[in-house]
Amino acid sequence: VERIGSAWQKRHIGHFIGGDWVASDSGRSYQNRSPWSGEVLSEVAAGDGEDTQRAITAAHLAFGGWAGAPPWRRQQIFLRAADILEGRRTEVLGALAAETGCGRHFGDVQIGFALKLLRQAAQLAYQPTGHLLPSDVEGTQAMAVRRPVGVVAAIAPWNASLTLSGRAVVGPLALGNTVVLKPSEESPYTGGALWAEILQEAGLPPGTFNVVTHAPGEAGVVGDTMLASPLVKRINFTGSTPTGRRLAEKAGRHLKRVVLQLSGQNPLIVVRDADVEYAVNASAYGAFMHQGQVCMCARRVYVERPLAEEFNARFAAKVANLPTGDPSDPATVVGPVINEWALALLDRRVKEAVELGARVLAGGVPAPPCYPATVLTDVPDEAEIAQGETFGPVVIVEAVDSAEDAVTRANASDLGLAASIITGDAHRGLRLASRLDAGIVHVNDQPVNDEPHMPFGGVKDSGWGRFGLGFAAEEFCELQWVTVRDQ
Ligand code: ADP
Repeated sequence: VERIGSAWQKRHIGHFIGGDWVASDSGRSYQNRSPWSGEVLSEVAAGDGEDTQRAITAAHLAFGGWAGAPPWRRQQIFLRAADILEGRRTEVLGALAAETGCGRHFGDVQIGFALKLLRQAAQLAYQPTGHLLPSDVEGTQAMAVRRPVGVVAAIAPWNASLTLSGRAVVGPLALGNTVVLKPSEESPYTGGALWAEILQEAGLPPGTFNVVTHAPGEAGVVGDTMLASPLVKRINFTGSTPTGRRLAEKAGRHLKRVVLQLSGQNPLIVVRDADVEYAVNASAYGAFMHQGQVCMCARRVYVERPLAEEFNARFAAKVANLPTGDPSDPATVVGPVINEWALALLDRRVKEAVELGARVLAGGVPAPPCYPATVLTDVPDEAEIAQGETFGPVVIVEAVDSAEDAVTRANASDLGLAASIITGDAHRGLRLASRLDAGIVHVNDQPVNDEPHMPFGGVKDSGWGRFGLGFAAEEFCELQWVTVRDQ
């Protein structure tokens, strides 16, 4: 397999193991296609357990050197990586559009996040690494020392490929761990090989960061190998709740700690004192960012009854006019969904809701490879789309009698990732926020927000643990209690 070149089209993507680009042991590969044009973008190594094992071994061997590297060296590597990514901005925007149907705006958001992530990670190198503690044992000095755990395995999705793979690896690396990343089969380049190119060029030592790709439907082999390996000390996973649940069950068997960032069914509450125009814009942005394929997207909008009629009319008019089509056209707001399976699922769930009595206020008719921005109302609770996360540009709007009613309905979901409250009274917003079962709440902003230093994560079935550089130490380090006693 040739080394990945700088041209985007038709590249060969190998595994990145021990600082080398390599083919699968089995020699197998698969073709990854563009969700917009259907053309083959890359020929990708189809990894299995043996490839994963090789990557884990490489990471294990690199751990001592990386954990002991002086802070200035680690700092330099992350700063250099940020400069390299910044220099490749145009090319990366093109790759994100081609590989994941990511539009210009969301591409800029992802690159902006990744640059801040790398530059903030550089600062982590000089953070204190422990505490001195008073001891009741005479003549004894006690301390708690933060130590990297060793090999961290990361499993990342395709939807915000650059951001989510970055978040899964940069924090653990900055804290002195080594990493094996498994990107999604849909984004082997922007969620995997691209990070390897950048970090390698920035000077990250061989083996410190490794990437294993795999064919569609074969993620389980790679994941199971990561879970079963005694050399892997932590796993972080970003993806859907059903997959996360399976992973956590297996992790329990191996007593392996996992960080899980899972699905959302995120509510946006419009209080009766809200500015309707503001609420409409927030809902449209929050529901349809990246075709609704972001875990934080608004899925349910609860509007207090006095505003409902006006809100619905203005929201439907706005949504019906969102430019839909080619993700590489900067004017496009709604690009293609990731694949035919996702398109068919959206179509099926919307049709089911309509058969059960839902009304379509906007959209609702597929335009392959796009699904249009769609607003449903009067959706019965038994409809699949009302129950769990449907990853795409469909949002449910419901009128409620009061903000309290909205909170009750918001909390009725098993999921608890992000939530938004739009109100003219910020203090009221804060009071409502304290009653929402959600890991993230924004008062007077839409729910699709992320910054690398914030504690990102969900409650209930939306996951365990927090990403966020200041918080990652709790997930990806161990505190060691050390004492020294006078003889
Ligand atoms: P999404 O809907 O975001 O694709 P998934 O949970 O299916 O959500 O995928 C998220 C990540 O989990 C991807 O990298 C995918 O390849 C991976 N994945 C899927 N099934 C498994 C599994 N059984 N073990 C480990 N990883 C898996």
